Amino acid sequence: MKLYSTNNRNNIANLKEAVFKSLPEDKGLYMPMAIPKLSDGFLKNLSKYSFQAIAFEVARQLIGNYIPEEDLYDIIEKAITFPAPVVNLNEQISVLELFHGPSLAFKDFGARFMAQLMSYLRDKNEKKITILVATSGDTGGAVAAGFYNTEGIEVFILYPSGKVSELQEKQLTTLGGNIRAFEVNGTFDDCQALVKSAFLDKDLNELYNLSSANSINIARLIPQSFYYFEAFKQLPQDEVKNVFCVPSGNFGNLTAGLMAKKMGLPIHQFIAATNINDVVPKYLSTSLFEPHPSYATISNAMDVGNPSNFVRMLDLYSSTWNDLRKDVIGFSVDDASTESAIKEVYEQFGYFIDPHAAVGYYAAKDYLANYANSRVVVLGTAHPAKFLDVMNDVLDKQVPIPEALAVLINKEKKATAITSSFEDFKSNLLNLVEQ
Ligand SMILES: *Cc1c(COP(=O)(O)O)cnc(C)c1O
Repeated sequence: MKLYSTNNRNNIANLKEAVFKSLPEDKGLYMPMAIPKLSDGFLKNLSKYSFQAIAFEVARQLIGNYIPEEDLYDIIEKAITFPAPVVNLNEQISVLELFHGPSLAFKDFGARFMAQLMSYLRDKNEKKITILVATSGDTGGAVAAGFYNTEGIEVFILYPSGKVSELQEKQLTTLGGNIRAFEVNGTFDDCQALVKSAFLDKDLNELYNLSSANSINIARLIPQSFYYFEAFKQLPQDEVKNVFCVPSGNFGNLTAGLMAKKMGLPIHQFIAATNINDVVPKYLSTSLFEPHPSYATISNAMDVGNPSNFVRMLDLYSSTWNDLRKDVIGFSVDDASTESAIKEVYEQFGYFIDPHAAVGYYAAKDYLANYANSRVVVLGTAHPAKFLDVMNDVLDKQVPIPEALAVLINKEKKATAITSSFEDFKSNLLNLVEQ
């Protein structure tokens, strides 16, 4: 597998380089040189394949002979260990539940695949890899669970003290083993700044083999295309047009869907559903891309004012606005409408929909009002119990807490408290090596 930078098609990397560097030096994003079409035989017979077999076939086409088939199958088997069921709300709207993994959000797919791929590709003779990751909530939990007990890799997570939910904090701080949490007296931006400084620090780079697990890593994007095929397999085979509605922030999920379409999956259109952070819907209607600082909303994992995967979406359409907007319809939803969607879905269907998928549901209803002969699959990006404060505000009925979250409540938090000064973080890291 070869990849190029979106900033320069002659800047080529192999998969290993792209995974460990995350970003090319020219600050573009890595894209696969080839996105091959899957065979008709495979696409017409998806229902004969297990989720793992589908994931293997999609990965095999993208990665090619760079990884031998048995090894690739092994990576898939370890990464894809939970289902992605389609739940029908009615004949026209379904939810693709992507929250049955350990951290109860779709980010588990990307984090687990990346952990397995890094563990496989790493140079076994070199010292272990230390992943540094700053989190505002959801990413840290997925990365912690994804890398837990992965041989040859340790993870240092930095999170802003008091600014993640109690359950999110427990997801970061209770695993132990190769996962270490730093509780930073500061903001998410401070955490990100500490990570950036660490990558530039000579002493730390001599002692540690540092790598990052951020969301633009190609290893997180590839597995996100698998579940579009898995969803399709569960839909009725008829003449109705199938549309996927993707609640979006950095647009990784939607980009992976566009890749699935390019690989031959007959998806009619995508709905890019955002909260009031609506730079992409605005771009789709005006052709102007105008990033701005993010606004806080109740679907906070989508509070992104400058979506990082936008350049990949453009790249897939050779930067042609008119082609992109044939396939992607934008829609922005405010908090009041999001709350009304949570209520409506519970009252009409007895289904708890989290605030992010609720944005998608609202957009899906609007789409169906204009394009009746369609079926919309909304990506259920997180379990509603991860957002109890919002859910309890809106509904009288309490969301059942899944076992994976309930067991966290009594677990003991272990985190190293640090200030937001780089010297403090650095001396902690130096001390760890001496121990
Ligand atoms: C990360 C996240 C999103 C946004 O996904 P992108 O791929 O960044 O667009 C949506 N919902 C939830 C619950 C998330 O955690």
